[in-house]
Amino acid sequence: MSHDLSTSAPHTPVIGVICFEVAAEEQRSARACQSLTYVRALQSAGAAPLLIPPSSDVGSLHAVYRRLDGLLLPGGGDIEPAHYGEERHPRCAEPSPARDQTELTLARWSVEDGLPVLGICRGIQVLNVALGGSLYQDILAQVPGGTRHDWYPDHPRTLTPHDVTLAPGSRLAALTGVHSMPVNSLHHQAVKDPAPGLRVTAHATDGIVEAVEVPDHPFALAVQWHPEELAPIDPRAQRLFDALAAAARHPNP
Ligand code: MN
Repeated sequence: MSHDLSTSAPHTPVIGVICFEVAAEEQRSARACQSLTYVRALQSAGAAPLLIPPSSDVGSLHAVYRRLDGLLLPGGGDIEPAHYGEERHPRCAEPSPARDQTELTLARWSVEDGLPVLGICRGIQVLNVALGGSLYQDILAQVPGGTRHDWYPDHPRTLTPHDVTLAPGSRLAALTGVHSMPVNSLHHQAVKDPAPGLRVTAHATDGIVEAVEVPDHPFALAVQWHPEELAPIDPRAQRLFDALAAAARHPNP
């Protein structure tokens, strides 16, 4: 029996999404998981999501990577501060070494190779650290004048408690078509020193970095908010996934 491939024509881009690990419990083995909000936003953009488990085996990771048309770096827990040369602050959570290694490696490869990549929340932090930047380990503890950004877990994930101002001429401004907009905010860490290869393209009202882009890359954009939660109700959020899928579909525009 042959499969009808016509429904995936002309080209359905495969977008990798890294999973997080859930430790084994009494009646359950350890698992690799990811939120279906990312999956649905990619599917709405016409892309095929491929969930990738964390792996410390670089060879098998590269075997998956070279089959990807694009990459999504999703939200998640805190990165080990040693990756940006710092001791862990008491308010920085326990890291996940395999996930850190997997995502930092995939982020570097994507930037070097011009593979389209979208970072979300932890993803903007991964992209920044992968390229040599550093993070605030806790905004309220380390940023003078920093306001609350950790509107979780007792609030709707679609709550938009602060605005972001977008840099004129940025890809983000072109995609959203606005100069500023309200966003959700589900993070307690943030970009401190942006990596040399990144352009900061959005700030919150308290100055916190909320988006970065890699200039002269086909599509490398990351945001500190969670567009996958807003996508079903805000077309500006879905457009980020649409743009990732479009770049992945046409790798050499
Ligand atoms: Mn925020």
